Amino acid sequence: MENEKRKIAYSALKPTGDLQLGNYIGALRNMVAMQEQFDCVYTVADMHSITVDVVPADLRRRSYDFMAMFLAIGLDPEKSILFVQSHVPAHAELTWVLNCNTMMGEANRMTQYKDKSRKAGKAGINVGLFDYPVLMASDILLYNADVVPIGKDQQQHLELARTIAERFNGRYSPTFVVPEGYYGTKTTSKIYSLTDPTAKMGKTDDNLSGVVFLLDTPETIRRKFTKAVTDSDCEIRAAANKPGITNLLNIYSVMTGKTVKAAEKEFDGASYATFKEAVGEAVIEFLRPIQAEYKRYIGDKAELERIIRSGAEKASRIAYKTLSKVYRKVGFIV
Ligand code: AMP
Repeated sequence: MENEKRKIAYSALKPTGDLQLGNYIGALRNMVAMQEQFDCVYTVADMHSITVDVVPADLRRRSYDFMAMFLAIGLDPEKSILFVQSHVPAHAELTWVLNCNTMMGEANRMTQYKDKSRKAGKAGINVGLFDYPVLMASDILLYNADVVPIGKDQQQHLELARTIAERFNGRYSPTFVVPEGYYGTKTTSKIYSLTDPTAKMGKTDDNLSGVVFLLDTPETIRRKFTKAVTDSDCEIRAAANKPGITNLLNIYSVMTGKTVKAAEKEFDGASYATFKEAVGEAVIEFLRPIQAEYKRYIGDKAELERIIRSGAEKASRIAYKTLSKVYRKVGFIV
């Protein structure tokens, strides 16, 4: 029905590293697609970024970069709310109230925090990293999000957000929408490093030649694909024992909109070198218009700033409505 109320979707990306092809295939393109079905709220999560060591100038640059890239890939500020997290202080304010409705044991059980804590060893971690899932719960609950697109790594955090929302609703009275995970419809979702096809392509990869950044130049992309690791076989076919070729087929499929089966047929009998070159060219062609749009936005700081401020205003209106409801319920004078 035309005027049936659409569900609200919330998603955020941390500007801790430059955006890469894995982010696009695993997250960004779904965010674009979701705009057709949901009222979307999308955040550049700078507050989450400072739980680890980041260079302040890099964080600021990346926050602009992420927003310009959001716009370049087709997130539409007229359709969706696009904003930078720290521009809406309600995120920090609600976190305090939710902290007081989260049990230490619950936060302690989060495997991501435990992993990071273990990896940090003697250097230790900060309270922010421990509290990260509560800030994430605030992000989601402020906007009455019905759905949150998440990967496996965030499932436990979403579960905690649901627990906190249910506890608050039970302790006071129904206040928060209890959010559900949304797992999307796109089939290919995980992209692996070009140099180690068993490891997820990641922005913090040690070996940067395995990562294709969305802003890489055509020359760099060509070089990275030429060096992509394959196998000693010579058949272009997706198979569990051929992770390199499978990964390249998946990338080619997303970039061209062709199925993996069609791609296997297209490259039947071709050499690995020819295939790798073709995948590289497909990526270059796919990124060309996106990079051009990105350059247009990043080159017009006034316009970008206007979009960022306008997004923050729209987000604030919803967030403060939720926060004032929460403040009233817990007994603050509002
Ligand atoms: P990260 O950059 O690791 O914080 O991830 C941000 C989002 O991008 C998450 O939704 C990830 O699941 C997604 N993402 C990052 N790298 C990849 C990848 N190699 N393949 C698929 N999705 C990815």
